[in-house]
Amino acid sequence: MLRLPRFQYVRPSSLREAVSALADCGPQAMPVAGGTDVYPKMKRRQFLPRYLVSLQGVPELKGIRGDERAGLVIGAGCTLTEVASHPVVRRFYPGLAKAIESISTPVLRNMGTIGGNLCLDTRCNYYDQTLPWRAALGWCMKAPDPGGWPMAPEAAPAENQVPCRVAPGSPRCWAVASSDGAPALMALGAQARLVGPRGERVVPVGELYRDDGMFFLEKSQAELVAEVLLPPADGTRSTYWKLRRRGAFDFPVLGVAVALSLDTDGRVAWARLAVTGVASRPLLMDEAARLLVGQKPSPELVEAVAQAVYLPVRPLDNTDFAHYYRKRMAGVYVRRALQELLGPAAAA
Ligand SMILES: Cc1cc2nc3c(=O)[nH]c(=O)nc-3n(C[C@H](O)[C@H](O)[C@H](O)COP(=O)(O)OP(=O)(O)OC[C@H]3O[C@@H](n4cnc5c(N)ncnc54)[C@H](O)[C@@H]3O)c2cc1C
Ligand code: SF4
Repeated sequence: MLRLPRFQYVRPSSLREAVSALADCGPQAMPVAGGTDVYPKMKRRQFLPRYLVSLQGVPELKGIRGDERAGLVIGAGCTLTEVASHPVVRRFYPGLAKAIESISTPVLRNMGTIGGNLCLDTRCNYYDQTLPWRAALGWCMKAPDPGGWPMAPEAAPAENQVPCRVAPGSPRCWAVASSDGAPALMALGAQARLVGPRGERVVPVGELYRDDGMFFLEKSQAELVAEVLLPPADGTRSTYWKLRRRGAFDFPVLGVAVALSLDTDGRVAWARLAVTGVASRPLLMDEAARLLVGQKPSPELVEAVAQAVYLPVRPLDNTDFAHYYRKRMAGVYVRRALQELLGPAAAA
């Protein structure tokens, strides 16, 4: 049985207290929301925080406000079940509901939160293993001997002695972005409100991420995601297609999110495509989306967009399924997602 290491549990009762606790405890502290990623990782000694700052008792992170006309404000502490079962999300942002319902299992969705999902650690076959497995291999850059934790950018050694096992000569880690919620929110044009010791800021969800498997979040250690802001639905159609080995429980090894709307003439007014599972950050496929704008749906258009996603994505061989298969499936899933949203005119 894997056991949790020792740690101190800090239970703030407001957002301000939570941010202060994280700032005061420094890089040895981590926030924990539902704990569905944090606790298993602590058991495997991938995370070894001395302090866990619980977000469970922070009222500012709860609740969903707004409607489809004004847009929705979703507290980062809302569970995945709360978000996916919200009537406005289900009816007007179905791509988000579909993405979230694909996460893990009902029990974990009852605990896991949307904020935790956005800040979910990147994944790799060489990293998501038990301590003895990693020790036998001789560690890797993202998960060196656990004595080296925390691996905050400022704490990381200038010359990392432990190589990457996927790309041994590489100076960086290639672990893979694996949140299903992130690409769905990016396609919908959602923003995140962050609160930290220096105040607050609002950024597009896509700007939360860096292309680095180790330091994959563009935020400071004491900054918290407080809210997710969804724009007005305004005729938006959205969907999410996820590749995984089993129909439940598995993380995405490819996720394709598409959102778009049609004008009165039946042409695509705007479109956004986001892909996850193929890089260390979820990717917005702007060029592919541009091909759609102003066009009437047709099989040729769908094929051109599928190619514009398939060609640039370069998954590495560090998750389930062969990387060349995942690359091919990126094109296939874009095709299927567009056919779902655009109807018979887009079918081959
Ligand atoms: C078996 C299994 C299968 C899974 N399958 C999937 C899947 O298919 N798709 C998927 O996307 N996820 C999956 N997950 C991961 C996880 O359950 C979800 O991503 C969940 O939403 C994480 O939320 P949480 O509240 O439990 O996060 P936690 O575990 O509490 O935290 C996750 C990370 O986010 C940070 N954090 C939490 N809240 C905040 C906040 N408000 N601001 C800043 N940082 C924060 C934590 O410090 C930690 O680094 C799976 C997990 C398990 C155990
Ligand atoms: S990509 Fe390399 S450094 Fe990153 S987790 Fe995998 S083996 Fe480790």
